[in-house]
Amino acid sequence: MKLLLAIVCTLTTLASAQVTAIRAGHLVDPDSGTVLADQVILIRDSKIEKVGKGIDVPVKATIIDLSRMTVLPGLIDCHTHVADGAHDGEPMGQFKKTGAQVVLESVPNARAMLESGFTTVRDVGTYRALGDIALRDAINRGDIVGPRMFVAGAYVTISGGAGALTGLAPDIQLPWDLHYGEANSPWEVRKVIRQLAHDGVDHIKVLSSGAVLTHGSNPHSQEFTPEELQAAVDEASHFGLRVEAHAHSPEGIKNAIRAGVASVEHASMIDDEGIALAKQHGTYLDMDIYDEECIQEEGRNGKMPKDFLEHDAQLGQIQRDNFRKAVAAGVKMSFGTDAGVCAYGTSGKQFAFMVKYGMTAMQAIQAATSNAADLLGHSSEIGSLKPGKYADIIAVPGDPLADIRLLEDIRFVMKDGKIYKQ
Ligand SMILES: [Zn+2]
Repeated sequence: MKLLLAIVCTLTTLASAQVTAIRAGHLVDPDSGTVLADQVILIRDSKIEKVGKGIDVPVKATIIDLSRMTVLPGLIDCHTHVADGAHDGEPMGQFKKTGAQVVLESVPNARAMLESGFTTVRDVGTYRALGDIALRDAINRGDIVGPRMFVAGAYVTISGGAGALTGLAPDIQLPWDLHYGEANSPWEVRKVIRQLAHDGVDHIKVLSSGAVLTHGSNPHSQEFTPEELQAAVDEASHFGLRVEAHAHSPEGIKNAIRAGVASVEHASMIDDEGIALAKQHGTYLDMDIYDEECIQEEGRNGKMPKDFLEHDAQLGQIQRDNFRKAVAAGVKMSFGTDAGVCAYGTSGKQFAFMVKYGMTAMQAIQAATSNAADLLGHSSEIGSLKPGKYADIIAVPGDPLADIRLLEDIRFVMKDGKIYKQ
């Protein structure tokens, strides 16, 4: 009887499964670096079941005709700050809002990311600790619309460091959630990471040099010692978590690579030794080479604090030149924009810059799909359109390999087998 019931239940589940077939005129496969013609993608509920030419489509399947479009896997931005609320260029703005306000202001950010074709983001830190976890979980429950989020929970940073809220009088005591990730020894680093792992984060963000967009910071400096960075990578590994390191300065970058981080963020002033080390260790460089446009524009509009513009001087061009060097050297590259510096929903603009600075269009697409999924440790679920993976699918008219700027205007977005834009 029990067996019969189980069979009936299974049949009912099968019968009620939502089956969708997408007819793709062209399909980009970043795994092989090729484009296939006239493909059918068969989707059952949230997952891809089959992909290929001339696949039998079940009678009951919903057909989506993208035969005049190029279909790609959903894009992945590996460096976002979706949970930081309405961006106003000034971290001090955090003091005018409660944590609840910041998270609720982040709801449209999440929607904008998804509707622009980014079905997954790696969110790499928020000033108000753990707000990103709340946002991620609300999206996963289906309460709000947004990308698949992998979150850091807080910045793991030295006191007064790149991830700290700075610029205040020394006698002002910050509430717990505005300095949650502060740590000043290997054991404090381990303690913070243990807390974050318990809180349910997906990865750990450490800051290994000063920052551009932090008051009283110096991007040329080193933050954290090699011992502290090694402690971070080791402790995170106990919980199956990977570490990404913010670093602009050559030494900050090399310390992080030697410690075994999964990716270096920004990597602006990486030197030849740093490039060789990244290659040797298989470290991803996640270089946000577009957002300089937004920093400079906000500077012209008087919206960017003066000290931030001083930190930024020359750094944008140096980073772009080093990006070209790293690509030529064959370093693993992922796609990260620092979304929030530029408006949410405009990450696609970085593709053209990646091509301008040395990538082929296919390499730029791989950075935001198969490479990004590999960096996140989720290649079996996302990053290409293969059986068993999530049906995270986008489409553009025309050929993005001939005109990469087509990725700035994604016309079709599906996540988890559900259409969000058509
Ligand atoms: Zn950032």
